[in-house]
Amino acid sequence: MSTPPRIAVAGAGVAGLCAAEILQARGCDVTLFDPLLTDEGSGAPNASALAGGMLAPYAEIEHMPPEWIAAGLAGITFWEAFSQEHQIGFVKKGSFLVAHEGDRYLLRRFEAHLPPETRSYRPVVDIEPALAGLCSSGLFLPEEAHLVPLNALEALRESIRKGGGRLETCAVTPEALACDYDYVLDCRGMGASGDVKDLRGVKGEIVIVRNSEFSLERPVRLMHPRYPLYIVPRPDHVFMIGATVIESGEAAAEGSGAGTVSVRSALELLSALYSLHTSFGEARILQILSGVRPAYSDNLPHIRIEDRIVRCNGLFRHGFLLSPVMGQCVADYMTGVENRFSALFMQTGNKKERAAL
Ligand SMILES: Cc1cc2nc3c(=O)[nH]c(=O)nc-3n(C[C@H](O)[C@H](O)[C@H](O)COP(=O)(O)OP(=O)(O)OC[C@H]3O[C@@H](n4cnc5c(N)ncnc54)[C@H](O)[C@@H]3O)c2cc1C
Repeated sequence: MSTPPRIAVAGAGVAGLCAAEILQARGCDVTLFDPLLTDEGSGAPNASALAGGMLAPYAEIEHMPPEWIAAGLAGITFWEAFSQEHQIGFVKKGSFLVAHEGDRYLLRRFEAHLPPETRSYRPVVDIEPALAGLCSSGLFLPEEAHLVPLNALEALRESIRKGGGRLETCAVTPEALACDYDYVLDCRGMGASGDVKDLRGVKGEIVIVRNSEFSLERPVRLMHPRYPLYIVPRPDHVFMIGATVIESGEAAAEGSGAGTVSVRSALELLSALYSLHTSFGEARILQILSGVRPAYSDNLPHIRIEDRIVRCNGLFRHGFLLSPVMGQCVADYMTGVENRFSALFMQTGNKKERAAL
């Protein structure tokens, strides 16, 4: 019997965990390294822990070319299957895009990006009755889904451990690991910015509130000329509201950890939330947080092969949506199998060429 390939994964955010889970299911011997892992495997404040958990290939169409929609739908299929055995708060009830009556032109403008068969307006009272006072109808995207990021990350860590994978609490460099493993996956997110010169951080700030007077079945996006907002329902009337998109050197300097939130951002998010429904005036603020999205200049994720180091990064706004497919592409590359999404993700080239970028 041949020895299973030995794979080291640097970084246990959603990218590293999805890749590790998929590689382990293919029979690989996987070791994950991350300084933020604790012995109990509790959540780490990386970009993944801050995410909304929306799986929204259509609602994100302004941030992702249409040829990526199929990869996003494949990501949803992965999480749906994973949720059969793990409690990750996966809900597939679509998402709903609304606007104040005076801003409806924003919905029509957005709609033009969607494939024609997905442009479906539905009465608010039928989809999200809690928003009946806001507008009469909204764009309904029934194929979308959402999950609870911390639950998904924990379930992946647990599954990898149960499958015999090792999780080591330490920082590593892929280069130092390369001589001991068949492949090293560099999934360090912003932790790789010292080695991956064209990676930048895009800060995102969020507010988490509890409002027992209000209920939603699915993520809602409020199209607004100045303060667009999304609100993701979580169990027990908890809502995640996000997110700012701030391009700044400060974001990169902060790395992927939780950072500070400006008063302006908090005011904008909370004002937009209050304009969605006045009951949020009495909601309790549970947390105000910020994270940094790792992004390349095209805002798309890439897999870069540098000999035995495979860099998976640049997931920007789509880490939960696209990490499963990215992990499948990596596993297929290592086992010599065709993957229909490889052309989207794969970039080859040697380290010197990349460093020169
Ligand atoms: C506010 C916000 C909302 C978002 N909402 C969504 C959403 O709704 N849906 C969606 O799909 N995406 C969303 N995203 C995007 C998503 O969070 C990111 O794309 C994703 O988390 C990136 O995952 P990652 O694993 O590449 O990076 P990270 O999650 O940052 O993980 C990188 C890991 O590498 C570790 N690391 C760093 N240096 C080292 C080292 N030297 N050795 C070992 N480990 C190291 C870090 O500790 C960290 O745990 C959101 C992002 C933000 C900020």
